[in-house]
Amino acid sequence: MLKGYLSCAQAQNNLIGFIHYDLERKTMKKTAIHLRNCPICMEKYSSLQRRKKELREKLYEIQNKLKIENDVSCYIDCETEKENLFLINELIKWDEKYKKEYKEQLNLKNFMQYCKLKVRENLIKENIKNKSMVKKDFKGLFGDFFNNNAMRV
Ligand SMILES: [Zn+2]
Repeated sequence: MLKGYLSCAQAQNNLIGFIHYDLERKTMKKTAIHLRNCPICMEKYSSLQRRKKELREKLYEIQNKLKIENDVSCYIDCETEKENLFLINELIKWDEKYKKEYKEQLNLKNFMQYCKLKVRENLIKENIKNKSMVKKDFKGLFGDFFNNNAMRV
């Protein structure tokens, strides 16, 4: 069926371009006329637009989350720029998302610190154990020699 000089197939082919204002003026106009007169294509157009809106919201959500992560990470590492310090400080105090992110990152940082400490502790223990084993081996191998010589002296 031709509505506004376009068939439904042609109009639907134009929909993506139409949503992004990425068609020639003439084609934009023909598509618009078709949509105004064709409920089926109009429904496809509406659903595409809803999808576009959803995607834009998702993108915004992700960008926002990344910004919060970055803001908080800089704050914890004392790398926040001076002019933003007050703002971030207030956000961490009053904004639930910032507050949550701050707690999580701080917990993670503390946990990493704890792990580092444990590893160091174990390395030291291992080192001491190795040294005492070397001593033991040394005694085991040469103990008699020293004992015999000591007796001879
Ligand atoms: Zn149509």
